[in-house]
Amino acid sequence: MSRGRAVIGLTGPIASGKSLALDLFIKEGALGISADAVSASLLTEPALYNRISRKFSPVKILTNGKLDKKKLAAEIFGSPAKRKWLEALLHPRILKRIHSLITSSPEKIAVVETPLLFEAGLAECFTFTVCLAAPAATLEARALKRGWSWAQYRARVKAQLAPEEKYARADIVLDNAGAPRELAEKIKFICRFLKETAQGKKK
Ligand code: ADP
Repeated sequence: MSRGRAVIGLTGPIASGKSLALDLFIKEGALGISADAVSASLLTEPALYNRISRKFSPVKILTNGKLDKKKLAAEIFGSPAKRKWLEALLHPRILKRIHSLITSSPEKIAVVETPLLFEAGLAECFTFTVCLAAPAATLEARALKRGWSWAQYRARVKAQLAPEEKYARADIVLDNAGAPRELAEKIKFICRFLKETAQGKKK
């Protein structure tokens, strides 16, 4: 995605610790980007907002006159055709925005948290991919703490690739079954390795 930098694609199953890992990478001096946050900010821009509100019925996607992300998600969840339409509109714009964030920043390590990285066919966009992992029971317990019902959790899990498939496709699988400080150590190690090898290249 960008010369002279390591651009890491960070992914993992629901509640595997992606947000925590992104924060830890940022603490190590990396540029951290959330693809979901980029998507949410694009959705508020008039050009996109207008196209979306022409496609969907306003009662179904607006709350108090504003685009309601949860309603929009529910709309596309039930309709593969609408989902495809929205993805075709959003994905190229998200990638363009992420690319410009990366190229306009001085950091040599950029990390892009992308929950549906493999599902969206984005693995080739990154220098390498990192997937957070934890046992299924741990993932479920962490997800349910968010206040989702078990049925809501299962529906979301089923809409993604299975965790094992994500682990198999990733370049690096980062075990996050232990304490957060253990994950912090692993991320520190990856960042140190990348910084040292980048310095080695200059000599
Ligand atoms: P994701 O972004 O992959 O959905 P989060 O980073 O939001 O996952 O983590 C999901 C939940 O699990 C959060 O409440 C977070 O605080 C908790 N969590 C993440 N990693 C750990 C860990 N190593 N030990 C205990 N709780 C964790």
